[in-house]
Amino acid sequence: MSNRRNFIKGGVLGAIGASIFPKLSIAKMDKTNPNSDNGFPMVISTWRHGMPANEEAMEVLQGGGKAIDAVEAGVRIPEADPESMSVGLGGLPDREGKVTLDACIMDETGNCGSVSFLQHIKHPISVARLVMDNTPHVMLSGSGALQFALENGFKKENLLTEKAEKRWREWLKESEYKPVINVENHDTIGLLALDKKGDISGACTTSGLSWKMHGRVGDSPVIGAGMFVDNEVGGACATGVGEAVLKTLGSFLVVELMRQGATPQEACEEAIARIVKNQNYKDMQIGYLAINKKGEHGAYAVHPWFNYALYQGGENQMIDSLSYLK
Ligand code: ASP
Repeated sequence: MSNRRNFIKGGVLGAIGASIFPKLSIAKMDKTNPNSDNGFPMVISTWRHGMPANEEAMEVLQGGGKAIDAVEAGVRIPEADPESMSVGLGGLPDREGKVTLDACIMDETGNCGSVSFLQHIKHPISVARLVMDNTPHVMLSGSGALQFALENGFKKENLLTEKAEKRWREWLKESEYKPVINVENHDTIGLLALDKKGDISGACTTSGLSWKMHGRVGDSPVIGAGMFVDNEVGGACATGVGEAVLKTLGSFLVVELMRQGATPQEACEEAIARIVKNQNYKDMQIGYLAINKKGEHGAYAVHPWFNYALYQGGENQMIDSLSYLK
């Protein structure tokens, strides 16, 4: 009994109390008609590189396009931008100087595709989309993912820019591995979109943590960790130290909390609370974004300075996230 009391006191689930029980949660589920609100179309994405990504995605949505096409088009912008040093071309390499990419995509029907540990391909998100559309699988990895990309007309490129190589050579001098909180301020892009019909899709793409071990795969290509969408409920995506997100299957958790009645904000806060409870959170940044079917959104991070781009009501703007540490 006391365990249960502590659990309920401990987080957002306290506020929504009995909704942790499946039978009650079904009764409490929000049955809002998405067309009753003018909060969409909307696009939300992580960090400042989300601004141009949102612009691109919104153009697709305004033209009556589907959320799945919008999210792919949106994140291709930072993937192709060499100045965005944590995504696609120009991404910082692993400790061996290799740029290895992770990405995933999910549509309103629950279809999804992903690639991990992919090298030499500038647009991993579009390879993930093809995995979703044209294969019986969800995830392709490493040389198999590269082979699949090449067979489907993607071009092999050198993704290590001079600038990124210089940073890597600097790092090699000390070779000390420690993810630096917010220092780049333009990490993984996770992007969620709600289209005119009220359907939700998401995409997530990254070069992962710089100076990671060769072969390391983070949260971003793992459906339910880096990103998750359930069109009955909403969507969520993550950025930051992927290991912490993987250990808690963060994006799936956020969506399931919303299913049980939490607002997007409450759900993000509870997902961060799970990390704070069990992990050495002081040294790492993790940020979540979430949206629901009404076009409401939430954002929460461990440390201050996580920010995101929100395009809604005709305005695309940067917003500072709330955080656990002030
Ligand atoms: N979540 C990404 C990873 O762990 C990194 C990031 O968002 O910066 O690979």
